[in-house]
This record gives sequence, structure tokens and C-alpha cells, in this order.
Amino acid sequence: MMNIQEYEGRMRRMLTLAHGRWTAILAECGVDHRLLKHRNGPCPIAGCGGKDRFQYTDKFGEGNYFCRACGAGGGFKLLQHWLGLSAGDTLRKVEKVLNVLPETPTSSGPQRTTRDARRSREKVWNEARPIKPGDEVNRYLENRGIALEQYPATLRFHPALPYFIKDEHAEKYVHVGDYPAMLACLQAKEGSPVALHRTYLLDGQKAPVDSPKKLLGDTWFASAVRLGEPSTELSVAEGLENGIAIYKHHGPPVWSALTAGNLEKIWIPDTIKRLRIYGDNDANSCFDGQASAFSLARRLKKARRSAPLEVEVLIPEDNGADWVNVLAPQFSYLNHAA
Ligand SMILES: [Zn+2]
Repeated sequence: MMNIQEYEGRMRRMLTLAHGRWTAILAECGVDHRLLKHRNGPCPIAGCGGKDRFQYTDKFGEGNYFCRACGAGGGFKLLQHWLGLSAGDTLRKVEKVLNVLPETPTSSGPQRTTRDARRSREKVWNEARPIKPGDEVNRYLENRGIALEQYPATLRFHPALPYFIKDEHAEKYVHVGDYPAMLACLQAKEGSPVALHRTYLLDGQKAPVDSPKKLLGDTWFASAVRLGEPSTELSVAEGLENGIAIYKHHGPPVWSALTAGNLEKIWIPDTIKRLRIYGDNDANSCFDGQASAFSLARRLKKARRSAPLEVEVLIPEDNGADWVNVLAPQFSYLNHAA
């Protein structure tokens, strides 16, 4: 089990350690040496191809590449596509090369293999039900000023979801208790469910546990919680509650990326002609929200030179504000971190 915080922490550490070493890392992970020769060639990114549109440059020491068709990227994305693995498995691969792979629990946790993880997700999802007035999820969203009249099918209410923590040796998972939870299904490009986001709740608030938000499954790279299916227009947001707030005020479809890192990478259908990117204002910290919103805009603009895409980036005016703060200001005194 890798929750978002753990994933992002390990990802940041890996990127720091890998800086300037990507050519060796990619070669060691089995990427064809011809691809790493700084010459034009076919693009290895899934579904791209061509003859000479791709060049590996390593321009900034991040394993950088540029493709005239699908845009720019770094060593991690390149490796993930080359190996056809999930982001979590790719991360482990690089950690192994860097010799910083965290030790895995020896005894049985809630999930051990990809197939077990998928089964476990399906079980949890099937135990849950549509969100209704009066249930704990609706109560929580009411308290944040973003309850909906009707909820998209990608959100569900689980009446009693077990909460686990690792024991003090980080070896075993210990069952701490059961909490009501809001479930959100993350879907990959083809629409297949790839991960399950859980928000543990209690008395209309986030549950008083270390990590009230967790992610089940680790193949969620570029996926999204889809609040509605788009035709030609789409709004995207970082946090789930931000997405729900935008859905409530501006209508569907809104896709939530869950993290700044994933907003940058989120997959946008080719049919979209108009995209609104609702970023967080992280001016109080490291500008992650703004950076990922503009990075997504930049990537799409560069990749879509032939079929124009109208992109708008919206950032709340106030430092530290997200879209729940903007759209449900009367509830902001609750000061929930997204
Ligand atoms: Zn390409």
C-alpha cells in the first residue's frame, strides 16, 4: 500500500537522486541504447511512433526528451512507457537501480500483488453505495459547503471501511478501526478503474487518523476521478473537494487529479477543444499548484499544434487558497486542508 504522501515523498527523493544520472539509469533499466543517442528516431511513448519525431536530449539532466507529436517529458515518463509499467512499479525500478528501494513488509498486508490489490479495490467499491442525503459523505460535504443534489457514479459512500496503519517496525498492517468513507474511483485513459481514493470520515469531518486520505492501488499515474464524461469541454482540478466544488458551481464535467504531480500528467482526451485548469494557489509554500496547472497547459499547447486547444488556467487570488475556499467561502473558517 502506497498512499499519496508516501508516493510523492518517494518520487521527490528519487528525482533528486536521479538528477544527472538518467542516461545510465535508463540504460540499466533496459532502454535501447539507440534511443539514448541524442538522435532523431521513432517515439517510444505509447501510441505515438513515427519515424524521426523523437529525440532524447537530457537537456536539464532529467532524462529529458522532446517529441514533435506528443511533446516533452523526462526520464521517468520515458521509462514508464518503455517498460509499460504503472508509475508505482516504475518508481520501484528506479529506486532499485539507485539502491534506495524501501524494504517491503514481510508479513501479509491488505494487498500483496497487483491482482490482490485489484480484487481488494473491487470488494471495497462493491461494498459501497451511491451517496444520499443524510449519509456521512453528504454530511461531510455539507460541512464544507459543497454537497450536491445528485452525485456522479464515480463517488460512493462506504459505511464502515477498515483503517490500517503499519506497526512500529513497519512490518505488519494493524487494523485500527472502521470508519465511514467517501470513495472516489480513478479511471485510466481507456476508462478502466485503476485506483480507489478513500477519505475516512467521522461526525461530518475527516476522521482523526494520521492519513484520513488514502489511495488503494498504485497505477493511478495520469488517471483522474471523472465527475462527468466530457464531449468537447472539460474542467480539471487538483483536489477531489475542489473538483466537487467546481462541479457544484459550474456543472460537469470536472476531472480531479488528486495531486499537483498528477494534475501535470493527467490524460486529456483528444476530443476536448476547451479546457479549464483550476489550480491551487500555493504561493504560501512552493507554488506546486500553480506550477502543475501551467505545466499541464504548456504540455497540451505544445502537443496540440495541429488540432488547436483553448486552454485557460484559473488560480485563486488569495495566497494559500484553493477552489473550495473561493466557491464556498462561508465554510472556509473550518480551514480543512484539501
Ligand atoms: Zn511522441
